[in-house]
Amino acid sequence: MFKKGSTLYSIFRFKCPHCHEGDFYVDNNPYNLMKVGDIRDKCSVCHRKFMPEPGFYYGAMYVSYALGVTVMVTAYVATIVLFPSATTGVAVTVVLASLLVMGPLLYALSKTIYAGLFMPYKGVEPTEKELSSRAERAERAQRAAAVKS
Ligand SMILES: [Zn+2]
Repeated sequence: MFKKGSTLYSIFRFKCPHCHEGDFYVDNNPYNLMKVGDIRDKCSVCHRKFMPEPGFYYGAMYVSYALGVTVMVTAYVATIVLFPSATTGVAVTVVLASLLVMGPLLYALSKTIYAGLFMPYKGVEPTEKELSSRAERAERAQRAAAVKS
């Protein structure tokens, strides 16, 4: 549906936001409720981390909220348009049921969307910038070791 390299691909296929190859979740089926939302530490293909800092995914709450409101409004409008004679009680029941059914999927999507917002596509191979920062780190470690001895 979406092409690899587009952020939407990694969001809806639950793939690594960096390379769009490795899996983002421990289990990519959001309806496995024991594992829903469990992010891997790093990508199995490009080995980049999924957790840039502790608590990073708290921000996904806002995404989840927006998705939830979207589902609620859609379910409500669909109910009153398709069944004009439906009572408010029926509409509320449909809204709650759709939220309950969509919940795990929305939760999983909220984290991949949030990751997609902050982690741009870089491809599988390390970028020039990553290589140079890696080289700098190695150099610094070497210098530190030289000072010690
Ligand atoms: Zn990756």
